[in-house]
Amino acid sequence: MEAISVFDIFKVGIGPSSSHTMGPWRAAEQFVRWLREQPEARRDLSGVREVVVDLFGSLAKTGKGHGTDFAVLMGLAGEDPVTCDVEGVQELFASICHDKVLRLGGVHSIAFDPEKSVRFRMREALPFHANALTLHATLHDGTQQSQTYYSVGGGFVVQENAPPSASQRVRLPNPIEKARELEEACARTGLDIAGVVLLNERTWRTDHETRDGLLRIWQTMRECIFRGCHTGGELPGGLRVTRRAAAMNHKLLGIAGPVGKVPPGAQPLGETVARLTPESLDVWCKGLRASDSDFQNIMKWVGCFALAVNEENAAFGRVVTAPTNGAAGVIPAVMMYMDLFARRPGEKSNEEAIVDFMLVAGELGSLFKKGATISAAMGGCQAEIGVSSAMAAGGLAYCLGANTQQVLMAAEIAMEHHLGMTCDPIGGLVQVPCIERNTMGAIKAIMAANIAMESDASQAKVHLDDVIATMWATAKDMHTKYKETAEGGLALRISVSVSEC
Ligand code: SF4
Repeated sequence: MEAISVFDIFKVGIGPSSSHTMGPWRAAEQFVRWLREQPEARRDLSGVREVVVDLFGSLAKTGKGHGTDFAVLMGLAGEDPVTCDVEGVQELFASICHDKVLRLGGVHSIAFDPEKSVRFRMREALPFHANALTLHATLHDGTQQSQTYYSVGGGFVVQENAPPSASQRVRLPNPIEKARELEEACARTGLDIAGVVLLNERTWRTDHETRDGLLRIWQTMRECIFRGCHTGGELPGGLRVTRRAAAMNHKLLGIAGPVGKVPPGAQPLGETVARLTPESLDVWCKGLRASDSDFQNIMKWVGCFALAVNEENAAFGRVVTAPTNGAAGVIPAVMMYMDLFARRPGEKSNEEAIVDFMLVAGELGSLFKKGATISAAMGGCQAEIGVSSAMAAGGLAYCLGANTQQVLMAAEIAMEHHLGMTCDPIGGLVQVPCIERNTMGAIKAIMAANIAMESDASQAKVHLDDVIATMWATAKDMHTKYKETAEGGLALRISVSVSEC
């Protein structure tokens, strides 16, 4: 049984896509690590003469708009998506495109023309998974070394028939594959969902480390919201989408002036108009908490938070997979709603509630990954926005005082109303419909949590396991053109030519 930690679900990275950016980036890193172990390539990689990358299936069809070429180059160049300088990697990408030289692993320069060396094989797909890439290295002695990787959603990368990693092979005290097993574990241990998950997380680290790690991820989410709420201009990619979160933030706060709206041509794309510091972030949040109890305004704030994250994501900013990048705004928006506006019962501090939220939401996300998919290339947008909404609904319900059955019911309700949702990103960009779709996922999550809490969940007609199985069956029935290929739906009706390297 696959063991998935909450830190596998929530990972810091860079936009715009977990499966098309983060996964290929990690695959390229793995390839470089593997090359270093090949005696002919040498540890300093000096035995390598050339590298060529083949992208297949959905990675080929929407890879340009999703930044797959950028991501693979950064992985080959030895950059880390968690710690890299977000603007620095854009400059590095531009310089590789211009100079046609890449420093493999950050140590060995090779000639590399992205136009020729990253091949988008539009008509080819590999059977194991829709998101496949093969990396080839030609060595100075003329031999070729190749490896194939699959980006299976949420930034997870696997190799066909490869044994599970050491962290996946661990034996958890409460192995859980289905929602009913989670219920049984709660009954057996006398713990609630967050307690059971925390017990499992002890397999990898102490409670203190889990708590600190989750709060660091929450801080990255808040910073992402802040940046999005203070950055105007247009998104990159050729669709000319105007960023809206900054203007909305200012309007809701009643601030006059042009902030959030950068005059066309006056500034580079995505100019940040307020400096992010720990103090400025806290002052801003305190202002929001004090400012609003009006239902309509709170709803607008939730939308604003989700827009902010996904505008940052579309602009290749730093985000957290939750469980994917395309759906990265739903959970932070609902967590921010809980943190600033919702009335929670009990004595727990805001930080304790944030940790609980992530433990519960992470476990729900792993149930979808094990029982269905979190990859839009396999299941359409129900696998991204639908799953994130279900995770957020369960996390919120838990923190608002729901019992175990009600938490599972909240997740079930949220997914039930995303079933069948297709993936049809215009121009292969993670912008339209993706950005607004996060606002809908967040609002549905809040509603699902509230309905579940007003319900007798023991009378539910549909169990979470049923909706996960239904989602997977629907995914298998869905036509390929609706699975992150930009060959159907809105993507077909509205054409755009995306920016080239
Ligand atoms: S339509 Fe949904 S699944 Fe497809 S790229 Fe956009 S957010 Fe992701």
